[in-house]
Amino acid sequence: MFGLVHLNSSTVLARLHRVVRERLRPLLHEPLADVSVTAWRVDGDGEPVPAAHALGLEVPAGRDKPAYLPLAIGDTWAPAWGTTWLRIEGQVPESALPVELVLDLGWFDHSVGGHCEGLAYRPDGVPVKALHPRNGWVRLTGPGAAPGVLAADGSFTLYVEAAANPLLLGLPPFVETALGEKPGPGEPEPYRLVAARLGAFSPDVFALLRDLEASGDLLPHLSADEPRYWRVLRAVEAALDATSVHDARAALIEVLAQPAHASAHRMTAVGHAHIDSAWLWPLRETRRKVARTLTNVLALLDTDPEMVYAMSSAQQFAWVQQDHPELFERVRDRVAQGRIVPVGGMWVESDAVMPGGESLVRQISYGKRYFAEAFGGESEVVWLPDSFGYSGAWPQLARRAGYRWFLTQKISWNDTTVFPHHTFAWEGIDGTRIFTHFPPADTYAAEVTAAELRHAATNFRDKAISSHSLLLFGYGDGGGGPNREMLARAHRFHDLEGAPRVELRGPEEFFADAEAEMGDQAPVWVGELYLELHRGTLTSQIAMKQGNRRAEALLRTVEHLAAAAAVRDGADYPYAELDDAWHTVLLHQFHDILPGSSISWVHREARETYARLEERLRALVPGTGAPGRLVGSQVVRDRPVLPTLDNGILHADVGPDGIVRQLTDLRTGRELALPGFGALCLFRDEPVRWDAWDLDRHVLRSPVPMTGPVIVEATGAGVAVTRRHGGSAFTVTYAMRPGTARLELTVEVDWQEREHLLKLSLPVAVHTMRARYETQYGAIERPTHENTLADEAQYEVCSHRWVHVAEPGLGVGVVNDSTYGCDVRRVPGGTDIRPTLLRAPRFPDPDTDRGRHTFRFAVLAGDESETRAAADDLNAPLLDALADVAPLLALDLESGAAVVDWIKLADDRSGDVIARVHETLGGSATAGLRPGFDATVTETDLLERPLPTTGYDLPIALRDGRLFLGPYQIATLRLTRPSSKEY
Ligand SMILES: [Zn+2]
Repeated sequence: MFGLVHLNSSTVLARLHRVVRERLRPLLHEPLADVSVTAWRVDGDGEPVPAAHALGLEVPAGRDKPAYLPLAIGDTWAPAWGTTWLRIEGQVPESALPVELVLDLGWFDHSVGGHCEGLAYRPDGVPVKALHPRNGWVRLTGPGAAPGVLAADGSFTLYVEAAANPLLLGLPPFVETALGEKPGPGEPEPYRLVAARLGAFSPDVFALLRDLEASGDLLPHLSADEPRYWRVLRAVEAALDATSVHDARAALIEVLAQPAHASAHRMTAVGHAHIDSAWLWPLRETRRKVARTLTNVLALLDTDPEMVYAMSSAQQFAWVQQDHPELFERVRDRVAQGRIVPVGGMWVESDAVMPGGESLVRQISYGKRYFAEAFGGESEVVWLPDSFGYSGAWPQLARRAGYRWFLTQKISWNDTTVFPHHTFAWEGIDGTRIFTHFPPADTYAAEVTAAELRHAATNFRDKAISSHSLLLFGYGDGGGGPNREMLARAHRFHDLEGAPRVELRGPEEFFADAEAEMGDQAPVWVGELYLELHRGTLTSQIAMKQGNRRAEALLRTVEHLAAAAAVRDGADYPYAELDDAWHTVLLHQFHDILPGSSISWVHREARETYARLEERLRALVPGTGAPGRLVGSQVVRDRPVLPTLDNGILHADVGPDGIVRQLTDLRTGRELALPGFGALCLFRDEPVRWDAWDLDRHVLRSPVPMTGPVIVEATGAGVAVTRRHGGSAFTVTYAMRPGTARLELTVEVDWQEREHLLKLSLPVAVHTMRARYETQYGAIERPTHENTLADEAQYEVCSHRWVHVAEPGLGVGVVNDSTYGCDVRRVPGGTDIRPTLLRAPRFPDPDTDRGRHTFRFAVLAGDESETRAAADDLNAPLLDALADVAPLLALDLESGAAVVDWIKLADDRSGDVIARVHETLGGSATAGLRPGFDATVTETDLLERPLPTTGYDLPIALRDGRLFLGPYQIATLRLTRPSSKEY
C-alpha cells in the first residue's frame, strides 16, 4: 500500500541516472579471472604491418620475428600514431553466463572513433571483433561467441592490433596541434592499458539498463497532462525501488508494452558508420577503420536477425577486399542476404560541389562498376550525408546514371536559414527532378535515444504529407558502427506509446514507401543545395584544388588523344593506367581531402600523389609534334604574350600602385575597369569554430592594408607588379595575347601568413542583379545583392572555371585556372568579382598553404560562350609534344549552343568511342553530328548503357541522327566502328 504518491520527475530521473551509472553498469560484467598480456611494439618506422607478420605467420625479409614482452595494467603502450600488438592469453572458468574478454585500452567516454582503437584476431589471422570506447569486449562463450577462439580445454589466445591514434577532435575548441604528423622520439605516450580481464556478462542487467534508458528517456518528451506521463514515472520509480533485477524489469513491463499511437511518425533505422576516407588520420588508417567497423557489424548481424547495415564508397569495400579477403567474403555473403546494403554507388563520398562534371560521372561509373562486379547489384540512392553543399547538376547526373533517390543531411548545419523540407523533389539546373530526403534527426551517427527520435519526429518539416523518415545509427569514423546497446533501444522503440515507431530495415525500402506516400505532392526545391557553412573549404589547402583541376584537365586531354590514337592508328588504349589514374583522382575528391579539412599528413601525401599523377598522365600523351594545348578538338600553339598591354582589341594602363587605371575595349570604346582593379586584398581570418572549414562573414569586414612598397616593371612576360607584406611576397603580372579580348593575370605568392585570407579584386563597369558561375555541365545564377537572409548567406560561393556578368551590350567574364572560392558583389558603378586565392587556418593543419603558389586568371570582354572558350584555353595543359588531331566528333550547330565536353573509349573495352555532349547556355540547341570516322551513333545513359526502351522519363537527345538538347541537357553518345564488336 502506498500513501500519498509524491512523484517529482527531476528527482526520479536524477536517481535513475545515478543508479544506472554507479550501481547497474558495474554489474554488467561480473569479474571472473585475469588474463596475461604481452605486447609487441611494431618496429621499423612504427607503421602498421599485416596481421600475418605480427602473428609470426609470415615475417618479411629484413624484419625480426615479433618479440612479445609483458605489458602491465597502467603501462603506456605506444607513441601517438604507433601500433602495438597485444597477445592476450587466458583460461575461461566455468560460468552459467556468457564469458567476455573486457579490454580498456585507455578509452575516453567521448569522441568515439576519435582516438585509440583495436582489432582482435585469432592466432590464424582471422579478425573476430573490434574494440572501441563503447564496444570494448569480445565474447568467448555463449550465444554470439567469436567462433574458433576457445580451445577444448577452455584456453584461448587473441591478438589485438591496438592503434594509438591521438585525440584531435576532443580538444575544445580546436587548437593548433602538431599531432597531425607523427611526433618525434621522447614525446609522452597518450594511452595506458586500463583493464584486461574476463567477465561474466549478465543479459538481465543489460536488458534492465535498456529498459530504464528507454522509459527514463521517454519521460521528458511526454506531457504531464496525459496519464502516460504519470504511469511511466511511477513505473520507473517502482523499478528503482525494486530489490532485484528481475523485479525491476517486471515493474517496467507494462509501460514498455503500450503500443505507439496510430499516427505516430515512422522511422526506418539503418545501421551505418560514416567513415571519412581520410580526415584527422591518414589514408592508411582508414583502411583499418573500415576493417574494424565491418568486423563489428558482422558480429552484430550474427546476433540480431533484424539489423540492416548500409555502407557506401566502393573504395572502402575495395580496401577490405585487398587487406582482408576472408572478411570480405563474409561481407559478400551478408550483401547477398540483404543484411549489408551497399549504398551510394560512388567511388567515395566526394565533395559534391568542386569536382568537374566528368569527375562526378566517373565517381558513379567506377563506383557502380565495382559494386556490380563485387556484389552483383546497383544502388538506387545517392548517398552523400556529409558533403559540404550539392551543386544543381546532381539531379540530372543522378537520374541519368540510374538513381531514383538522393540522401543528404548536411544542409541542417546551415548557419543562417532553415531549409524548409526534409523530403522533397529536388530540381536541378536543367529541370530534372529527384526524390530527396534529409534525415530529420540531424545526424548520420545516431545512438537511437528517445531524445533523437523525438527530435526527428518534431523537427520533420513535411509531416502534413509524410509520416516516414530515416534514422542512420552507429558510431562513425572508426567508432565501430552500431553496437548492441543501440539495437536493444531500437527494439524497445519499435512500437511504444510516446515515441515514433522504429523499424530496422534498409534505406531503399524507406525511400520506396516515402515516395509512394507523397505521390505527386512532394514540394519542389529548385537549384543548388547551398550549404550556409564551411565556405572556407573552397580555398583551404589550395594545392588540393590545383591538383584536382590539373588532373581533370590532363585526363580530358589524355583520354581524347588516346582515343584518337586508338581509332586512327590502332594504338592500344591505356585502360589500366587510366583506371588507376581515375581511382587516384576520385579518392582525393573525398569530402575532407579536396576541401582541405584534413591533417597535415593527409595533405602532404596528397601533394606528393598529385605530383606523381601529373608525371604519369603526361607520359600517357601519344603523338609527337610542336608544343601546344588541346582545346576542345583544336590544337592551339602557344602564342606570344604582349608586354605592352595593347593588342588592338583591349588597352590597359597600370598605375604606379600596380592597379589597372584603365581597361578599354577598343572595339566599342567601353571602359571595363572600376577603381581598384587588380588589387590583392588581404583580410584577417580568425574563424569562430571550424578553422579549415569556415570563412566567417566577419572576415570580409576585416581588411588588412598592404603597406610594403610597390614595384611596377615591364618584363618579357608582361607588366609585373611586385610587393611584400610581412614575410609574404606577391607578384601580379598583366599580359595580353594577340587577337584576344583578354587581359591575363598571373599571380605568384610566397605565402607566409597565419589566419589571413587573400582575394583578387576585379571590379568591372557592369550593372547587373545576377552573376553566372560555371558548375558541372552548365551554370548557376546567383544574386549580386543581399536582399534576403538567404542571399546574404551566400557571401562566398563556388565557381568552377569562370564567372560571367552582363548588362545589355556588355559582358565580362573572369576565368581561373585553379580557384573555386569567389564572391561577386555590387559596388558603385558596377560589380566586383573577387576570386579567393589563399587562407591560412591553424586547425587541423597549422601550416596550411605556407609556401609558393601560382594562379592564372583572365578577364575578357565577351559573352558566356567566349568566356567558356577562354576557360578551356587557360585550363588546357601545355604539352611538350602534340600532333594535330582531327576531331573524332564535331557538332554542326543549327541553333543554340552545345559542346563535346569529353571523348574517351568505352568502359566495356569494345573499342567504341564515347562522347559526352551538353547544352551550355540554359536554352535549347539542335546540331548535326559529324563523326571523324566511320561510325554509327547511339545514345546511352551516363554509364554507357543503352537507354531503356520503356519507362524512360528523361529527355532523349538523339533523334534521326541529330541532336536536340534542352537546357543544360547532357547526352552520352556511343560511336561504334563497323569493325568493333557489337555492343
Ligand atoms: Zn564526413
